[in-house]
Amino acid sequence: MPATILDGTKIANDIRSEVAAEVKTLAGDGIRPGLAVVLVGHNPASEIYVRGKRKACEQTGIYSEQHTPAESATTAELLELIEQLNRRDDIDGILVQLPLPSQVDSKKVLLAVDPAKDVDGFHPVNVGFLSTQRPGLVPCTPAGIMEILKRSRIAVAGQNAVAVGRSDIVGKPAAMLLLNANATVTVCHSKTQDLPGVCRRADILVAAIGRAGMITREFVKAGASVIDVGMNKVTDAAEFQRLFRGSPDATRREETFRTKGSVLVGDVHPEVAKVAGALTPVPGGVGPLTIAMLMYNTVKAAKMRRGSRVPELSPK
Ligand code: NAP
Repeated sequence: MPATILDGTKIANDIRSEVAAEVKTLAGDGIRPGLAVVLVGHNPASEIYVRGKRKACEQTGIYSEQHTPAESATTAELLELIEQLNRRDDIDGILVQLPLPSQVDSKKVLLAVDPAKDVDGFHPVNVGFLSTQRPGLVPCTPAGIMEILKRSRIAVAGQNAVAVGRSDIVGKPAAMLLLNANATVTVCHSKTQDLPGVCRRADILVAAIGRAGMITREFVKAGASVIDVGMNKVTDAAEFQRLFRGSPDATRREETFRTKGSVLVGDVHPEVAKVAGALTPVPGGVGPLTIAMLMYNTVKAAKMRRGSRVPELSPK
């Protein structure tokens, strides 16, 4: 039986509606959560991401503003901007869009963000809160993975979970969240031996690698839940054929490939749909959750800064 496809777009829309309702409630108390986005220079991909984030703010009723220092900005100039935003009471979340230009000390800039406004959850203080299970701001993509599992009623406690990838942005925090939810967690990376064998032990397999279609069916236990975080642009025709030959999706994907010259592909090979129990598609899986969880984090930061209790998100 083919895998159940987990609809990330629908889950993300549900979360956005829940956040919008919360923003309305806060408005009754005279509070409007505010997000400041810092976009340095003119990276086209970053500009697209930031546009999406600001549009989501508009739709959920969150105040947003954008700061656009020049490509030549120095570390000192960015630190000064972050300090100003840290001091402002109307700003609850500060998001520094990565990557920063090479002359900037990115770690120093991210460290300067007030942990209470760190809606990306990258500050070491929030990383510490996550690993010690204290309330804090959790990185958006891993938090979105947990929402997909929860809202798809996929059990986590007691299950074997394998994360392939150990980045600070996805792999490590995803592993920590799964561990906090009582899974037995293994984290894999480029030096892991017998990667297919380790992955085949997973009831829940999270692929956050950045390699198109690397996770083939040999990596997946029958019936496993597979979460595909990868976002890879495939432009090569032979690569396209390797991925989509014989796939039920082939005709639709071919059309996209012909008209756009590329397709967006995850780290999981489409053939995995034949063995997995559940699978997130790319696009339309984890991706939409990232912005939805940024909206949630901004409201969470607004409430935590004012000493309010923050309820867990929960499906109606
Ligand atoms: P990253 O920082 O490049 O980390 C990739 C990880 O994969 C590293 O830990 C690396 O191992 C591991 N890896 C690379 N090749 C491997 C191999 N052959 N076998 C086993 N492990 C291997 O990437 P990232 O930021 O975590 O992102 C991962 C993917 O998720 C990318 O495609 C990215 O675009 C996507 N992403 C999507 C979203 C979303 O919203 N959907 C958000 C963030 C990222 P080492 O540590 O040993 O090098």
